[in-house]
Amino acid sequence: MDQARTTCPYCGVGCGVLADIDDGRMVGVEGDATHPANFGRLCVKGSALHETLGEQGRLTRPRVDGVEVDWSTALSTVARRLGDVRSDHGDQAVAGYLSGQLLTEDYYVANKLFKGFLGTPHLDTNSRLCMASAVAAYKRSLGADAVPCCYEDLEEAELVVLVGSNLAWNHPVLFQRLRVAKTRNPLLRVVVIDPRVTDTCELADLYLGLKPGSDARLFNGLLAWMAERGKLDRVYLERHTRGLDEALDAAREDETSIEAIATDCDIDPERLETFFYWFASQLHVVTLYSQGINQSSSGTDKCQAILNCHLGGGKIGLPGAGPFSITGQPNAMGGREVGGLANQLAAHMDYDSPGAIDRVTRFWRTEHLVPTLPEGPGHKAVALFEAIERGEIRALWIMATNPVVSLPDADRVRAALAKCPLVIVSECMADTDLLPYADIVLPATSWSEKDGTVTNSERRISRQRGLLPPPGEARHDWWIISEVARRLGYGEAFAYAHPGEIFAEHARLSGFENAGERVFDISALAALDRQGYDALAPIQWPVTAAAPRGTARLFEDGRFATADGRARLLPVRPRGPVQALDAAHPLRLNTGRVRDQWHTMTRTARSPRLMNHRAEPFIEIAPEDARALGLGDQQLARVTSATGEYRGRLRLSRGQRRGEVFVPIHWTDRFSARALAGRLLAAHVDPLSGQPEAKHGAVAVTPL
Ligand code: SF4
Repeated sequence: MDQARTTCPYCGVGCGVLADIDDGRMVGVEGDATHPANFGRLCVKGSALHETLGEQGRLTRPRVDGVEVDWSTALSTVARRLGDVRSDHGDQAVAGYLSGQLLTEDYYVANKLFKGFLGTPHLDTNSRLCMASAVAAYKRSLGADAVPCCYEDLEEAELVVLVGSNLAWNHPVLFQRLRVAKTRNPLLRVVVIDPRVTDTCELADLYLGLKPGSDARLFNGLLAWMAERGKLDRVYLERHTRGLDEALDAAREDETSIEAIATDCDIDPERLETFFYWFASQLHVVTLYSQGINQSSSGTDKCQAILNCHLGGGKIGLPGAGPFSITGQPNAMGGREVGGLANQLAAHMDYDSPGAIDRVTRFWRTEHLVPTLPEGPGHKAVALFEAIERGEIRALWIMATNPVVSLPDADRVRAALAKCPLVIVSECMADTDLLPYADIVLPATSWSEKDGTVTNSERRISRQRGLLPPPGEARHDWWIISEVARRLGYGEAFAYAHPGEIFAEHARLSGFENAGERVFDISALAALDRQGYDALAPIQWPVTAAAPRGTARLFEDGRFATADGRARLLPVRPRGPVQALDAAHPLRLNTGRVRDQWHTMTRTARSPRLMNHRAEPFIEIAPEDARALGLGDQQLARVTSATGEYRGRLRLSRGQRRGEVFVPIHWTDRFSARALAGRLLAAHVDPLSGQPEAKHGAVAVTPL
C-alpha cells in the first residue's frame, strides 16, 4: 500500500490529507500531520473522502446533443459552435461560469482563453456567491484582495470574534484549532455573533444573537463607541490610514448610545457593552467572518464596518490581530488569484489597474488578435444569467458547478439556460440537475484524479495530487480548455503538457512588471521544474525573492497596497435586507450548509455515515412560531416565497430566533422534489460586489 499527500477538496480550510492507495483504489485517509492548516486533523467530511469515490455515477463519455461521441468530435464541435456564435453575435455573446472547485491551473487556462483570446469579459465564478463582498471590501480598504491573517493568529489572539460564521460546521478543523487554543490559553475569549445559536456557540464566552442584517449597525456602533471612549489608536490611524472622520461621521448618523444600538440590533445592552469593552480593550483581536456577512445585499459594507474597527484600533498586521474572511470553497482564493471573477483581469490586476490591460496583453502575446483583451469588467454571476435571459449571451460554458441549484431565483436560471442556444457543461457526474440544459457535455476528472494547486483561506497554496486513474474518458479541465483553444487556432499559447507548466506561467505573470506594487506575487515559484512542482510543500503567498518561504501575515509594517500606502476607513451607512417582510411572507429566511454535506451532495451523499447526520431536507423554526402556525416537530411543511417553494420536515429549535426560518442548501430536485433552497431566494445582490443576498429572504411556512 502506498501513502500520498494531497489536499481536501471541500472547504476553504484546505486541510492536508494522507491518502492510502492500494491496487489503484483509495482505501483510507488520515490528516497530514505536516500540513500547517490542520496538523493531522480532519473533520468528518474529510475523513470520509475515500468513501465517496468510485466510478459509479460518473460521466465517462462526451455527449453532443444527447449522443455519445469521441473526444475529437466533442472538442471540434465546441470550437465550431463557439466560433459560430462569435461570428454571428460578437465575442461578448460568449461567456463562462467557473467554480471554486476547479484547481488554479484549470482556472488560469479558462481565464486566459475567455478574456485573453476569445475577447469576452463575461467569465465569472461561483466564488461570487462565496467571497465577493470580502474581496470588494479588502480592495477598497486595504488596496488589494489580500487576507491579512493566518490561522496561527487564532491561537495568538486574546479575543476571537466569530461573526456570520458557523465555524463548527463549516470550517470544523479551524474550530478544533480554536478549541485547543482556548484550552491552552484560558485567557483567550471567544465572542459569537449570529442570529442562530449554532454548535459554534459551544466555545462562546459571549453570544450576541443579533437581528439578521444588523451587523453593519453593530460594528458602526463599535467604532463610534471606541471613539467616544478614547479607545481608537490615534497614532496608528495618523501614520497608516485615511478616512477616519468620514467613517465616524457616517457611524454617528445613527444614535450611538448602547441602548439605541442594542435596540436596532435586538441584542441585550449589557452583552453588547461587554463585547464593545472586550474588543476595545484588547489589541490582539481576530474577527473571523464568512457567509453570514458576505451573502448580503450590503455585504461589502458589513465587511468594511469590520475593517473600520480593526483599522481604528490598530488591530491588524500583528500576531493574533486582524479581520479574517474565511472562504467557503477549497479554491475560492485560487480563482481570485488568476482573475476568475468577471471584474478582474488576471493575477490580481483589475481592468482599471494602471497599465494592466497592456501588460497582460504583452504577457499573453495577444497583440495580434482582434479584438484584444476586453476593456472593462464583464457580468457578475447573477447579471450573467440575466444577460442570457435577455438573449445577449448566446453561448455559455459551465465548469464544475451547478448554477440551477446554487444561484438565487433558481427557476429563472433554469428558464434562462433553456433559452440559451449553446450550453456546454464540463462535469464529473452523469446525473445532475444541470445536465438536461446542456447541448454539449464534457466528462471531467474529479478529486483524487485531478492534479494541481489550491489556495486556502490563509493564502496557502497546496498541491492536490492526481492519485487515481480517471474513469472512462474523463479528462482534466485544463486539458479540455487547451484542446478547444487549439482548435480555435490558439494552440501555441495553450501548448501545455502538464499542470506544472501552467502553474509556472501563472507564477511568472504574478511577478511580471511587478516591482512590489501588487501584493499577489508568487514569482519565486516560477522556476519550479516538474519535480519541484510535484513536491511543492504548502506555502503562503506572496512568495518572492525577498520572501522565498512565503509570508504568514500581511501589512506588518503598516504599509498597505493603496497608492499612498495607507489603508482606508470608509463611511458605512447600514442598510437592511432588500426583501421586506409582509403579511404573505412574514418570516425571515436564512440558508446555509449542514455539517456533513458538501454543496449538491454528489459526493458526500455516497457515504452513509455522512447522510446519517441530516438525512432529509428540513426547516428549522422556533417552537413558539411553530405553535402559532399550528405546526409540530417533525411535521412536513412547505416554505413559500415570491419566487418559489421548498418542502421539508420541521425541526423545532430553541437556537432559532422568533420570526426566522433556516433551510439547508444541499438538496436538489435530483434528491428530493421541491427541496431546493435557491427557489426561495430573490436575486438581490450587493451593488459593489454582486454577491447575492442568500441570508435574508421573506417566506411563509404552512403545513404540507
Ligand atoms: Fe476538508 Fe474543510 Fe474538513 Fe478540513 S475542515 S477536512 S478542508 S472539509
